[in-house]
Amino acid sequence: MVDIEHSHILHLYKTFLSPISDLDCGAKCSAYNEHHVPFCCDTRHVIPLAYCSEWDYLSENADMWERISCNEILDFEHLKEKIPPDQVMIKCQGHQKCQREYRSITCRSFPFFPYIDQKGNFIGLSYYWEYEDRCWIINHLDCVSPRFRDEFVFAYEYIFAHSNHEFANFRHQSIIMRRVFGRKKRAIPLISRFPSPQLRYYKISPHNGRMRRVGVDSFAKHGNYNLVDKLPFADEI
Ligand code: SF4
Ligand code: SF4
Repeated sequence: MVDIEHSHILHLYKTFLSPISDLDCGAKCSAYNEHHVPFCCDTRHVIPLAYCSEWDYLSENADMWERISCNEILDFEHLKEKIPPDQVMIKCQGHQKCQREYRSITCRSFPFFPYIDQKGNFIGLSYYWEYEDRCWIINHLDCVSPRFRDEFVFAYEYIFAHSNHEFANFRHQSIIMRRVFGRKKRAIPLISRFPSPQLRYYKISPHNGRMRRVGVDSFAKHGNYNLVDKLPFADEI
C-alpha cells in the first residue's frame, strides 16, 4: 500500500475545505486566550503537523508556513514520541495571515479525529479531549456543520484507503481515549459519521463499546465555558 502522496494532498485540499461551523468559532475561543488568538492557531497550545508530502506541497506553493525546529519546543523529547515518522511539525504566520486554501489537514480537522471502535470500524468523530477547557467547538458540538462532518468522513476514508499506518495511528489514539475515559469513568462523546440533515450524537462506553444516542445538551461543558453556561444571561456573552 502506498503512502500519502502529492496527488492525495491535492485531492484532500480540494474536497476537505468547509469550515467546521457556520459561526466563527475562532472569534469565540480567542476571547479566552490571553494572547487573543484562536487556540488552534497558537503554537503555545497546538502544533500543526503535516505529512511529508504535504509539507513539500506547502513549501512549494504557500508562503505562510515554516518547519518548527526541535530547539523551539521546550518539551520536544516528550513530544517526539507522538509525532508519526512521516509527519513534520509546522507553524504558520498567524491567524491574521491565514490562507484558507493552504491550511494543513490537521488545521482542517481540529479538534476532531476519526474514532475507531473496538471492532476496528471508523464510526464517527471524537475530539482531542485535552482541549476541552479551551476549544469553543468542543463545548458547542451543536454548532458543527453537517457538511463539515461529511467532508471529514470522506477525507479520512480517503486517507485510510491510501495509508495503513494512518489508520493504525487513529486506532491507537482511540484506544488511548478509551483508557483515559475508562479511568475517569466517562463516556466517550461521538458525532456519528453517517449522513443526516442533523448531526447525531452518541455516548460510548469505553469498556464495552455500547453506544447510546443522546441529545447534544447531555454533553457537559468545560473550563470557562462551564462557568459562562452557569451565568444567568449566558446567551448574551
Ligand atoms: S476549532 Fe476550537 S480552538 Fe480552533 S478556532 Fe474553533 S473553537 Fe477555537
Ligand atoms: S493555517 Fe490558519 S487555521 Fe492553520 S494554524 Fe495557521 S492560522 Fe490557524
